[in-house]
Amino acid sequence: MTAASTTDFLVVGGGIVGLTLALELKRRYGDCSVTLLEKEPACGLHASSRNSGVLHAGFYYTADTLKARLTLQGNRRLTAYCRERGLRLSRCGKLVVTTGPADLPGQRPTGRADAGAQSRPQGPSGQDTS
Ligand SMILES: Cc1cc2nc3c(=O)[nH]c(=O)nc-3n(C[C@H](O)[C@H](O)[C@H](O)COP(=O)(O)OP(=O)(O)OC[C@H]3O[C@@H](n4cnc5c(N)ncnc54)[C@H](O)[C@@H]3O)c2cc1C
Repeated sequence: MTAASTTDFLVVGGGIVGLTLALELKRRYGDCSVTLLEKEPACGLHASSRNSGVLHAGFYYTADTLKARLTLQGNRRLTAYCRERGLRLSRCGKLVVTTGPADLPGQRPTGRADAGAQSRPQGPSGQDTS
């Protein structure tokens, strides 16, 4: 493949972040050129295809922080993306086991159960699918 000598947008790295960014740039600015550089022979050969494959629910972030909200939003959007394209997704849920009273709902500062309860993804009919 020959790379263009000029481009409106240059994205370096064809993992999930670079590919999503390039796609979004093309969607928003359809008339602009977007070039993606990948050092490997194909895209997605590193972390994006070698991870645990979990759609995180934001349990490990303090409830209502930007990270927790983005994680939850990402969970919903990726779920919708998979459904629209008939991609297999196991909604197996998550069992959070407390290691002490501090992890119980209402307890601070850890309160993982609270974070989980507040960041619980909902299915299309409102059922809990975290
Ligand atoms: C063990 C492990 C388990 C994980 N489990 C999960 C999980 O269950 N759920 C989850 O949501 N996230 C998980 N993650 C995190 C997730 O995989 C990463 O956050 C995500 O894949 C990062 O995407 P990326 O596009 O930034 O990086 P990558 O997928 O690593 O892509 C970067 C790309 O840039 C290319 N590149 C690098 N340098 C250059 C260069 N100089 N020029 C051109 N190209 C270059 C690389 O070849 C690569 O293709 C996990 C991560 C790890 C390591």
